Amino acid sequence: MKTLQRTLTIVKPDAVRKNAIGDIIEQFEKNHFRILAMKMLEISKHQAAQFYAVHANRPFFNSLTDFMSSGPIVVLALEKENAVADLRKLMGATNPANAEEGTIRKKWASSIEHNAIHGSDAEDTARFELSFFFAGYELAQ
Ligand code: GDP
Repeated sequence: MKTLQRTLTIVKPDAVRKNAIGDIIEQFEKNHFRILAMKMLEISKHQAAQFYAVHANRPFFNSLTDFMSSGPIVVLALEKENAVADLRKLMGATNPANAEEGTIRKKWASSIEHNAIHGSDAEDTARFELSFFFAGYELAQ
C-alpha cells in the first residue's frame, strides 16, 4: 500500500518580492502535491530563530534569521506519496549554482541564502515544521 506523506514548504521573502508565489505554487500542483493548507504571514526574527534552531551555531544564522523576517512569506502544507524527498528534488540544491535545470531554485534563487524556497528535510522535521505553522484543526483532512 502506498502511503501519503506531508511536508512543509515556505515561499521565502526573496521569492515573494519577485512575484514568484504563483509560479512556485503552480509547480507544486503540476508535480501532484496536494495543498492541504496555506497562509501568508510575516515572522519576527525571534520566530525565525525558533524555526531554524538547528542552525543556531552556524555562521550564517544571524543573517538567515534577518532574511526570513524581512518580509512576507507563504507557508504551505503539502501532501503526496514521498512528499519530503519529492519536494527536495523539485526545490533543487541549497546553492543555486548547483541547482539542476527545471528546479525552483534554479529559476528563482539568487544566492545560497536568498534561495526562494524552504522544504522539510526529513519526515520528523516535517512534523515539527508543520506544527510550527499550522494548528491541528488546519491540517485535519
Ligand atoms: P536547505 O535545507 O536546502 O534549505 O538548506 P540548509 O538547511 O542547509 O540551510 C537552511 C537555509 O540557510 C538555506 O536554505 C539558506 O537560506 C541558508 N543557508 C544555508 N547555507 C548557507 C550559507 O552557507 N550561507 C548563507 N548565508 N546562508 C546559508
